Amino acid sequence: MAERSAIEWCDGTVNFWWGCTKVGPGCDNCYAEDYNNFRGNKQWGPNTERREIKGAPALIQKMQRSAAAFQAENGRPLRIFMQSMSDIFDNEANDELRAKLFDHAAAADGLRIIMLTKRISNVAKMVPAAWRENWPRHIGLMVTVVTQREAERDLPRLLELKRLFGIPWVGVSIEPMQEPMTLRDLRVGKFLLNAMTGEWSYMHRMMLANLPERLPGLDWVIVGGESGKNARPIHPEWVRKLKRECEGRAAFLFKQWGEWAPDNDLHPAVRANFIKRRVEKRELNRDPSAFASVQLEIMTMYRVGKHAAGRTLDGRTYLNFPMGLQ
Ligand code: SF4
Repeated sequence: MAERSAIEWCDGTVNFWWGCTKVGPGCDNCYAEDYNNFRGNKQWGPNTERREIKGAPALIQKMQRSAAAFQAENGRPLRIFMQSMSDIFDNEANDELRAKLFDHAAAADGLRIIMLTKRISNVAKMVPAAWRENWPRHIGLMVTVVTQREAERDLPRLLELKRLFGIPWVGVSIEPMQEPMTLRDLRVGKFLLNAMTGEWSYMHRMMLANLPERLPGLDWVIVGGESGKNARPIHPEWVRKLKRECEGRAAFLFKQWGEWAPDNDLHPAVRANFIKRRVEKRELNRDPSAFASVQLEIMTMYRVGKHAAGRTLDGRTYLNFPMGLQ
């Protein structure tokens, strides 16, 4: 549990419990599990008891009391990430603890709360009944996906929840990005869904009757590369493509390159220093499966570490937030 957070897109975190189970490729290098192990705890995996954090209610109440002063000082609300050390919608979390979390989150309406899950299919059955009718206006919902297949599986569900429950804003965190992706042409059965606009296009007109004509679109897209010892590089064009898809539609936040930085986003002196030190380097080629019509340049990536790699994309920083967090 931390009052302040190093995570770029929030000011602090609150955890009502620690512990989780890995559910997909995005969990491979779970920082929460690493930190939990580092602390000598054992709360990861199936049939493992999650650890209650008893100070969480007092912490969120304290944050709520400081929210007005924070707003006055910074000209924006205090952004809090709930459950950075677990997944709120984990099947194995204790239901009473989850109910307590929802109660405290709903009461802390001076904060702007970010809930992030990899278990979007559990959301409708686990949130309080009152939220289905009247979702708290200060709470947004995000899903993490790291492959195109996961995006096609989870984003239509997220947008449908936004429509049904009136969630004020929703977003997607694509971190660590594992392959080139699009959010504009999600294949959902025989349909294509543009997650930025919520519009369907379809191959069999008759079947559209079974679908809502349109879903609301995404409000926020966060993209980041991988860190950790087995981290793989991401091609800058993967990131640029998502940035372009967000233009005029959703707030785009580029969180980090991760372990590997592209040649063109390193300061020349820094690059020269890394070359001199013979840091590992890789050349990324065009990926014909995802960008058949786009000739990607060959990009040289250097393994410089997360901090040196930073988060500038073509010399610019993208740290944008949706309206609900401004
Ligand atoms: S869902 Fe999140 S907290 Fe749980 S194992 Fe995966 S990355 Fe870690």
